[in-house]
Amino acid sequence: MSVALLFNQKPTEEWQRNLQKLLPETKVEVYPIISNPEDVEFIATWKPHKDYIKEFPNLKVVQSVGAGIDHLLHTEIPDSVKVTRIVDSALKQEMFEHVLACIMTSMKNLLTYHKNQLQQKWIPKNYTSIHETTITILGLGEIGKLVAERFVALGFRVKGWSNSQKNINGVETFVGKEGLNSAIANTDFIVNILPLTTETESILNYKFFNQCSKQTVLINVGRGAHLVEKDLLIAIDEKQIKEAYLDVFREEPLPENHPFWSNKNIYITPHIASVTNATTALQQVATNYKKLKNMETLENEVSLDKGY
Ligand code: NDP
Repeated sequence: MSVALLFNQKPTEEWQRNLQKLLPETKVEVYPIISNPEDVEFIATWKPHKDYIKEFPNLKVVQSVGAGIDHLLHTEIPDSVKVTRIVDSALKQEMFEHVLACIMTSMKNLLTYHKNQLQQKWIPKNYTSIHETTITILGLGEIGKLVAERFVALGFRVKGWSNSQKNINGVETFVGKEGLNSAIANTDFIVNILPLTTETESILNYKFFNQCSKQTVLINVGRGAHLVEKDLLIAIDEKQIKEAYLDVFREEPLPENHPFWSNKNIYITPHIASVTNATTALQQVATNYKKLKNMETLENEVSLDKGY
């Protein structure tokens, strides 16, 4: 039995060295140099190539080394293969910090002041305060729940939306398709922290924006494919959406000629809202590998039926 690492971007050699230290008696190999694909029962991966599953006939576990699993689903995964992901308290806190930075930047007009500064313009603007600000969080899972709780603690009014009913202190919660319009109406900031599934793809579209209060600010830290990009441009043009802080995109890196680059109401970050910590991720990979060997229940298994 061996472990294969299949990454399309990360510095894999370092991951291999460190995982090998955690699993000294196991062969840890980096794709495409796999001595015997039939021995591989466990893959730890980020954005694997299409049809990766078919190359490992005895595969039992696919472990995403990020919080999401959407990057694994471009090929059919048989029922016999379990899929797991990373759940990390640091990742949740860092997502909160990123979203907080976007919200405070917007509330206090900091980017406008910086633009004005470069032209030596002194133009005071109105600002908003925490006690009068409402935030809606789409997705109250591992990350969204913590983000919602942190904003409640700071004194914001917080609403949240999920698939199943939640009971989170201080958060007004809404459920399912029928709850979406109430969740996104009468709010100042909409923060998307949903997983990408067939249900949530393109959820941030023109109809959605028109259900929001005029001049809502969008923060997308979920996935790029949640957003219909041309609909956002229209909603910004029509002043329905005031501004958008985008961390994730349909195509990453954002293509050179993309209209988002030059839009003065769109603020781009390069998918850095909350980055997987290699040490924590490798510990979770090693733990799950040992659990597989001991035939124990794996940690952070996802439901392929739900897609998250
Ligand atoms: P979880 O799986 O723990 O939570 C997902 C939440 O979304 C749950 O509350 C779930 O509802 C809700 N949800 C899913 N589908 C629907 C739907 N159709 N309608 C309403 N609610 C729905 O995920 P995490 O919190 O761990 O992560 C969320 C996503 O954040 C990741 O999938 C990833 O895409 C993104 N992410 C982005 C990062 C970045 O740097 N930009 C970093 C890390 C994550 P219920 O609880 O009822 O099932």
